[in-house]
Amino acid sequence: MASPSDPCVLVVEDETAQLELVAYNFEKEGFRVVRAGDGEEGLLCAQEEQPDLIILDWMLPKVSGIEVCRQLKRQNRTKRIPVLMLTARGEEADRVRGLDTGADDYVVKPYSVNELLARARAMLRRTRPGSVGETLSYDDITLDAEQHKVQRGGQSVKLGPTEFRLLSVLIERPGRVWTREQLLDRVWGNEAEVDLRTVDVHVGRLRKALHIVDARDPVRTVRGTGYSLDYDG
Ligand code: CA
Repeated sequence: MASPSDPCVLVVEDETAQLELVAYNFEKEGFRVVRAGDGEEGLLCAQEEQPDLIILDWMLPKVSGIEVCRQLKRQNRTKRIPVLMLTARGEEADRVRGLDTGADDYVVKPYSVNELLARARAMLRRTRPGSVGETLSYDDITLDAEQHKVQRGGQSVKLGPTEFRLLSVLIERPGRVWTREQLLDRVWGNEAEVDLRTVDVHVGRLRKALHIVDARDPVRTVRGTGYSLDYDG
């Protein structure tokens, strides 16, 4: 079962067999996959689903891959999402043009699915390390995503599944301020009908669980905005 904390990849490819091959292999490796069959749909899905990574084919009907990439990198909601371009073109000039539009990496067709998975993981290791099983730490807190274990100051911390996902999101980007809406999307998934105050409730539980005598509260409340994992607020 896919959970909202699994890494989400949007695959934009008009050739159905290619699309399904990529989707099948990524799903098998624990990714949540969103499929789009053309550029317009790709742009829409990127806005709505806020994937962690976009695999974008260069040759697409209606809006080309290059144009999709340009638009993704221009919009606030999507500009931080890494884009991996699939290109059939070997020309160096075209590759450079792809990277110029803001693509973060590219793979030349024909490629092996394993190569694509390796590149995708490498990109996620930089942007969402917890989603690919890396151990994350901030100050005296460590989170082992693979074994679902959290420690603070060397002591084991027991967290419920929601608090664990919440900490996974916060610890990936210490110092970043998350709005309640963003946390709701990331932790509960955007189909969930959850009240924004639920976020406050679970942040409260996370704080309580992380509280160790003499230790400072690592979660900073940013008034009117949301939360951040940050001692220096
Ligand atoms: Ca294509």
